[in-house]
Amino acid sequence: ADISTLLLSRIRDVADYPEPGVMFKDITPLLADPAAFAALTDALAEIAVATGATKVIGLEARGFILGAPVAVRAGLGFIPVRKAGKLPGATLRQAYDLEYGSAEIEVHAEDLAFGDRILIVDDVLATGGTAEAAIRLVRRAGAEVAGLAVLMELGFLEGRVRLETALAGAPLEAL
Ligand code: 5GP
Repeated sequence: ADISTLLLSRIRDVADYPEPGVMFKDITPLLADPAAFAALTDALAEIAVATGATKVIGLEARGFILGAPVAVRAGLGFIPVRKAGKLPGATLRQAYDLEYGSAEIEVHAEDLAFGDRILIVDDVLATGGTAEAAIRLVRRAGAEVAGLAVLMELGFLEGRVRLETALAGAPLEAL
Protein backbone atom coordinates (compact mmCIF):
# COMPACT_ATOMS: atom_id res chain seq x y z
CA ALA A 1 0.00 0.00 0.00
CA ASP A 2 0.95 3.63 -0.40
CA ILE A 3 3.22 4.71 2.45
CA SER A 4 1.57 8.14 2.78
CA THR A 5 -1.79 6.48 3.41
CA LEU A 6 -0.27 4.23 6.09
CA LEU A 7 1.51 7.11 7.82
CA LEU A 8 -1.50 9.42 7.68
CA SER A 9 -3.70 6.71 9.17
CA ARG A 10 -1.45 6.68 12.26
CA ILE A 11 -1.55 10.42 12.92
CA ARG A 12 -4.19 11.63 15.35
CA ASP A 13 -5.87 15.02 15.03
CA VAL A 14 -6.28 16.69 18.41
CA ALA A 15 -8.61 19.70 18.36
CA ASP A 16 -7.80 22.85 20.34
CA TYR A 17 -4.29 21.76 21.36
CA PRO A 18 -2.08 23.42 22.55
CA GLU A 19 -4.57 26.30 22.33
CA PRO A 20 -8.09 26.95 21.03
CA GLY A 21 -8.40 26.91 17.24
CA VAL A 22 -5.33 24.71 16.62
CA MET A 23 -5.70 21.19 15.20
CA PHE A 24 -2.60 19.41 16.53
CA LYS A 25 -1.13 16.49 14.57
CA ASP A 26 -0.17 13.88 17.18
CA ILE A 27 2.40 11.38 15.92
CA THR A 28 2.43 9.11 19.00
CA PRO A 29 0.09 6.48 17.44
CA LEU A 30 2.56 6.18 14.55
CA LEU A 31 5.51 5.76 16.93
CA ALA A 32 3.61 3.01 18.77
CA ASP A 33 3.03 1.05 15.54
CA PRO A 34 6.27 -0.79 14.73
CA ALA A 35 5.42 -1.34 11.04
CA ALA A 36 4.52 2.31 10.48
CA PHE A 37 7.54 3.60 12.43
CA ALA A 38 9.83 1.28 10.46
CA ALA A 39 8.30 2.36 7.15
CA LEU A 40 8.77 6.01 8.10
CA THR A 41 12.38 5.41 9.16
CA ASP A 42 13.17 3.56 5.93
CA ALA A 43 11.58 6.26 3.77
CA LEU A 44 13.48 9.05 5.52
CA ALA A 45 16.73 7.06 5.36
CA GLU A 46 16.23 6.65 1.60
CA ILE A 47 15.94 10.42 1.33
CA ALA A 48 19.13 10.83 3.38
CA VAL A 49 21.01 8.54 0.99
CA ALA A 50 19.45 10.08 -2.15
CA THR A 51 20.44 13.60 -1.10
CA GLY A 52 24.03 12.56 -0.45
CA ALA A 53 23.81 13.64 3.17
CA THR A 54 26.86 12.99 5.36
CA LYS A 55 25.08 13.73 8.67
CA VAL A 56 21.54 13.96 10.01
CA ILE A 57 20.25 16.79 12.18
CA GLY A 58 17.16 16.23 14.32
CA LEU A 59 15.20 19.18 15.71
CA GLU A 60 14.17 18.94 19.36
CA ALA A 61 12.09 17.14 20.41
CA ARG A 62 10.17 14.98 17.93
CA GLY A 63 12.90 15.45 15.33
CA PHE A 64 15.13 13.47 17.71
CA ILE A 65 12.72 10.54 17.75
CA LEU A 66 12.61 10.40 13.95
CA GLY A 67 16.12 11.59 13.10
CA ALA A 68 18.11 9.21 15.30
CA PRO A 69 16.89 5.93 13.75
CA VAL A 70 17.16 7.50 10.30
CA ALA A 71 20.82 8.31 10.94
CA VAL A 72 21.54 4.76 12.10
CA ARG A 73 19.64 3.25 9.16
CA ALA A 74 21.51 5.45 6.66
CA GLY A 75 24.88 4.81 8.33
CA LEU A 76 25.32 8.49 9.24
CA GLY A 77 26.05 10.41 12.43
CA PHE A 78 23.27 12.18 14.29
CA ILE A 79 23.43 15.79 15.50
CA PRO A 80 20.87 17.21 17.92
CA VAL A 81 19.72 20.80 17.41
CA ARG A 82 18.37 21.80 20.81
CA LYS A 83 16.40 24.58 22.40
CA ALA A 84 18.88 27.06 23.84
CA GLY A 85 20.56 26.22 27.14
CA LYS A 86 20.65 22.42 26.93
CA LEU A 87 24.00 21.67 25.31
CA PRO A 88 27.13 21.65 27.50
CA GLY A 89 29.81 22.52 24.93
CA ALA A 90 30.56 25.55 22.74
CA THR A 91 27.52 26.27 20.59
CA LEU A 92 26.20 28.26 17.69
CA ARG A 93 22.83 29.86 18.45
CA GLN A 94 20.11 31.05 16.13
CA ALA A 95 17.08 33.11 17.14
CA TYR A 96 13.76 32.96 15.32
CA ASP A 97 10.36 34.59 15.69
CA LEU A 98 7.30 32.88 17.13
CA GLU A 99 3.72 34.10 16.94
CA TYR A 100 4.31 35.80 20.29
CA GLY A 101 7.94 36.55 21.05
CA SER A 102 10.97 34.58 19.91
CA ALA A 103 12.96 31.42 20.58
CA GLU A 104 16.52 30.22 20.13
CA ILE A 105 17.98 26.92 19.00
CA GLU A 106 21.57 25.80 19.20
CA VAL A 107 24.00 23.13 18.10
CA HIS A 108 27.45 22.08 19.25
CA ALA A 109 29.83 23.99 17.00
CA GLU A 110 32.18 21.02 16.72
CA ASP A 111 29.42 18.82 15.27
CA LEU A 112 29.28 20.80 12.03
CA ALA A 113 32.21 21.41 9.73
CA PHE A 114 32.97 22.85 6.32
CA GLY A 115 32.15 20.20 3.71
CA ASP A 116 29.43 18.43 5.71
CA ARG A 117 26.13 17.87 3.88
CA ILE A 118 23.28 17.90 6.35
CA LEU A 119 19.82 16.38 6.10
CA ILE A 120 17.54 18.17 8.57
CA VAL A 121 14.75 15.97 9.96
CA ASP A 122 11.61 16.99 11.85
CA ASP A 123 8.12 15.61 12.32
CA VAL A 124 5.94 18.51 11.20
CA LEU A 125 6.65 21.53 9.00
CA ALA A 126 4.21 24.26 10.04
CA THR A 127 5.17 27.92 9.43
CA GLY A 128 8.76 26.92 8.65
CA GLY A 129 10.28 29.16 11.32
CA THR A 130 12.06 26.34 13.13
CA ALA A 131 13.42 24.79 9.94
CA GLU A 132 14.55 28.18 8.65
CA ALA A 133 16.56 28.76 11.84
CA ALA A 134 18.12 25.30 11.53
CA ILE A 135 19.10 25.96 7.93
CA ARG A 136 20.78 29.19 9.03
CA LEU A 137 22.72 27.35 11.74
CA VAL A 138 24.01 24.79 9.26
CA ARG A 139 25.15 27.46 6.82
CA ARG A 140 26.75 29.60 9.52
CA ALA A 141 28.88 26.60 10.47
CA GLY A 142 30.13 26.39 6.89
CA ALA A 143 28.21 23.18 6.20
CA GLU A 144 25.80 22.56 3.35
CA VAL A 145 22.09 21.73 3.55
CA ALA A 146 21.50 18.46 1.68
CA GLY A 147 17.76 18.77 2.28
CA LEU A 148 14.89 19.01 4.72
CA ALA A 149 12.79 15.90 5.33
CA VAL A 150 9.60 15.86 7.38
CA LEU A 151 6.86 13.38 8.08
CA MET A 152 4.16 15.93 7.46
CA GLU A 153 3.78 19.37 5.94
CA LEU A 154 0.85 21.59 6.97
CA GLY A 155 0.40 23.11 3.53
CA PHE A 156 -2.03 25.83 4.54
CA LEU A 157 0.69 27.45 6.70
CA GLU A 158 2.90 27.82 3.62
CA GLY A 159 6.17 26.81 5.28
CA ARG A 160 7.39 25.58 1.90
CA VAL A 161 6.97 29.07 0.45
CA ARG A 162 8.73 30.67 3.41
CA LEU A 163 11.68 28.26 3.06
CA GLU A 164 12.21 28.68 -0.66
CA THR A 165 14.98 31.29 -0.31
CA ALA A 166 16.67 29.58 2.66
CA LEU A 167 16.70 26.17 0.97
CA ALA A 168 18.33 27.64 -2.14
CA GLY A 169 17.40 24.66 -4.28
CA ALA A 170 17.93 21.95 -1.67
CA PRO A 171 14.99 19.52 -1.64
CA LEU A 172 12.11 19.67 0.84
CA GLU A 173 10.58 16.20 1.13
CA ALA A 174 7.31 15.65 3.02
CA LEU A 175 6.06 12.09 3.25
P1 5GP B 1 7.09 25.81 12.63
O1 5GP B 1 8.37 26.39 13.16
O2 5GP B 1 7.26 25.22 11.26
O3 5GP B 1 5.94 26.76 12.71
O4 5GP B 1 6.68 24.65 13.62
C1 5GP B 1 7.29 23.42 13.49
C2 5GP B 1 7.71 22.88 14.82
O5 5GP B 1 6.63 22.86 15.72
C3 5GP B 1 8.19 21.47 14.65
O6 5GP B 1 9.36 21.27 15.43
C4 5GP B 1 7.03 20.60 15.12
O7 5GP B 1 7.48 19.54 15.91
C5 5GP B 1 6.16 21.55 15.93
N1 5GP B 1 4.74 21.49 15.50
C6 5GP B 1 3.96 22.51 15.06
N2 5GP B 1 2.72 22.10 14.82
C7 5GP B 1 2.71 20.79 15.10
C8 5GP B 1 1.66 19.78 15.06
O8 5GP B 1 0.49 19.99 14.70
N3 5GP B 1 2.03 18.52 15.41
C9 5GP B 1 3.31 18.23 15.81
N4 5GP B 1 3.57 16.95 16.14
N5 5GP B 1 4.28 19.14 15.88
C10 5GP B 1 3.98 20.41 15.54
